[in-house]
Amino acid sequence: MSDYYEKVKVQLEQMKSSGEGAEKEEASTEPDEALVSSPPASVSPFQTVHSSCPTAARQNGSKTAVTGRNRSKSRSKLGKDERNSSYKQESEYALHETLVAANANVGKPHNRIDNERQMLQIQGTGKILQGKTETNGNTVIPNQRPKETKGFSHNKEDGNKVVKRRKPVTVDTSKAKTSMEALKLSIRQLKWKEFPVGRRSACDIYWHGVSFHDNDNIVSGQVNKFPGMIEMLRKINLSRAVRTMQELFPEEYNFYPRSWILPEEYQLFSTQIRLAKDSDASLKPTFIVKPDGGSQGDGIYLIRDPSDLRVIAGSQTKQSVVQEYIHKPLLIDKLKFDIRLYVLVKSLEPLEIYIAKEGLSRFCTEPYQEPSQKNLSHVFMHLTNYSLNIQSGNFVHSNSLSSGSKRTFSSVLYRLASKGVDIKKVWSDIISLVIKTVIALVPELKVYYQADIPPGKPGPSCFQILGFDILLMKNLKPVLLEVNANPSMRIEHEQEVSPGVFEYVPSPVDEEVKVGVIRDTLRLMDPAQRKPPVSNPEQQQEEMSVEVGSPEQGPGEGGVLPSLCLKQVFPKYTKQFSYLRTVERITALFLRFLGVKGNMRLGPTGFRTFIRNCKLSNSNLSMASVDILYIDITRRWSGMLPESRESGMGLQAFVEAFFYLAQRRFKSLSLREQVVSLLEVCEAQLENQVGGGPGGPLAEDSTSSARRSVSCSRTQPGRTPHPHYASTTSQALLAPQLYSPAVQRRASSQDYRLHQRLRPPQTHKASVDN
Ligand code: ADP
Repeated sequence: MSDYYEKVKVQLEQMKSSGEGAEKEEASTEPDEALVSSPPASVSPFQTVHSSCPTAARQNGSKTAVTGRNRSKSRSKLGKDERNSSYKQESEYALHETLVAANANVGKPHNRIDNERQMLQIQGTGKILQGKTETNGNTVIPNQRPKETKGFSHNKEDGNKVVKRRKPVTVDTSKAKTSMEALKLSIRQLKWKEFPVGRRSACDIYWHGVSFHDNDNIVSGQVNKFPGMIEMLRKINLSRAVRTMQELFPEEYNFYPRSWILPEEYQLFSTQIRLAKDSDASLKPTFIVKPDGGSQGDGIYLIRDPSDLRVIAGSQTKQSVVQEYIHKPLLIDKLKFDIRLYVLVKSLEPLEIYIAKEGLSRFCTEPYQEPSQKNLSHVFMHLTNYSLNIQSGNFVHSNSLSSGSKRTFSSVLYRLASKGVDIKKVWSDIISLVIKTVIALVPELKVYYQADIPPGKPGPSCFQILGFDILLMKNLKPVLLEVNANPSMRIEHEQEVSPGVFEYVPSPVDEEVKVGVIRDTLRLMDPAQRKPPVSNPEQQQEEMSVEVGSPEQGPGEGGVLPSLCLKQVFPKYTKQFSYLRTVERITALFLRFLGVKGNMRLGPTGFRTFIRNCKLSNSNLSMASVDILYIDITRRWSGMLPESRESGMGLQAFVEAFFYLAQRRFKSLSLREQVVSLLEVCEAQLENQVGGGPGGPLAEDSTSSARRSVSCSRTQPGRTPHPHYASTTSQALLAPQLYSPAVQRRASSQDYRLHQRLRPPQTHKASVDN
């Protein structure tokens, strides 16, 4: 056990003996509840987490009145994820007022937090987080550096002395929207320079509130959003990305509940559930239905049978995900809760991932019972969304970080640790879940990235803070619920101070967690500190955990700033996870043949060229079959992605085609082995070809094959085919003008048949052990 966990143990012992221990446990019949006890108000096993993500003092005077008239507007935005937010100018002004007041208080003591900090020091974590003093007695300030670094300027001071002073990092916050307040506090703490209305010349960092495209005129610096992240994290796309990984690595990806995409998989869903119920009459599964673009629990409902699906029964034809409902969650105080963890994707190439050591736990406001027909509609019992539960009369606002309806994750871990739970294991499972999820997302993100920021063209680089929503099952296994591209970074909440009058008041828990996350993200993105990640082979062997006791040395610390509250997990743990990056290798092939023209779909010529250059065509796979394969898969995917206006073969379709080709070529192996074997064939072939990509010999090949190529029709808007159940007979899909009878004859003589579904969802066995 590490020093850190030993420390936690010792502290627990000390607290018990000093009577500082947990609140009285509630009598409970639930085994989970016996497991956990309330923590003391101000102590957590992650003491250094609190102290490493200190809350900026700004408690007083930061109230903004909201009248009953504008209440609903404010409420709909308040503290919620901002995936689809359209920010209103008025609230921006209101926020600005708040910020002015808040900033005036920066530097003033924040009593509660300061008291806690004091206690942390007394309790001897050995970490004193106030300004450190150098041996020569000078306080080290963050913008002084021992060595000359890029971005530093030389100023003459005191006559002879040359003092090197760094130019402050510039941040364009004009599009920051509801992250504004936490962002301003962070920039202030770092002594960087903020440009709230933008800047004529380039800034080092651009902070967007919603999307990469909030400002499309950026050609340098760094933007805090990746192109395509919002799209990738919609519920259907996330489910698809994870499903692809489940097909290759079912065991590794069993942290995501079994899901079906509606309406296209309705038949499959109902058939599978009917068969399961027929074979076990006692089976009473519950499912949760989530609209694709939804957030904050909007439109979510529970069902016990496919026939209850409103999406099919009613007039609604909304795209949704229906998912196994985890009916045995871990409970605390008899309540279901989930965990919001902040994850920084610092770069895609090379892949760099950081996890915040502190997160939030959001509690339901009605005691949990396993789902029954009677309680299915009890949202305060089943859904942990803050935006829903705040509307319950039972919602508890607390100034403590370890009680109330929103608490720090560390306070929850404390309670678990106090009951003997191996929290190191819990952390390690969570880290693993996060890395695997990001690995599942990276392939498609790379396609978006190349389309928006083609290599060789001027453009910014990107990073992004993601909000992972994780549920702990009763057996402590973490389950991924969803990932938010725009997790709420609000640090205040709305409170009704008198009937009809609402105020924004600081939320200590949010501030504690979120300011640290933003500030430390900025520190990591400091342009003067950008250096390629080093993957230390010894570190790779390390057990995964959040070693809060050993500070991550981040950039810019001169002693005033605490150690980073973000922990690097990738490339740190590359060794354990690199084998999962198979789809990324397929993506590299896709991108190579896609070229750099800013499109995201591979045309028939590109696909043919891929087959030719990788020498995949042979007596078993004619080029005619290749064309049919292309058309069949591309059309089906176009139907599944009706909103896409670009025609051609997208990455998901290409991956499906690749799996099909691999299965066909290497019959006796497992899918994973088949895919890796085919990758090796392709990579070896391309390695032998100088300039095999677009522009090389390939270009010539493309030109000639273009004459023979098939074209792919644009997606018909409004078409909602059910590709799984529609006939996918290749003949039916052939465009007569493009296929001569000779081609068709050749195709049928090869006995070319596509699987009805080349990647059938029923083959993925991964399902959460519920
Ligand atoms: P939204 O984006 O609308 O918040 P989520 O996927 O986060 O959608 O689901 C909302 C809430 O529903 C979650 O916070 C969680 O409490 C609950 N929930 C979601 N999926 C499941 C599941 N598979 N099993 C149990 N509870 C779930």
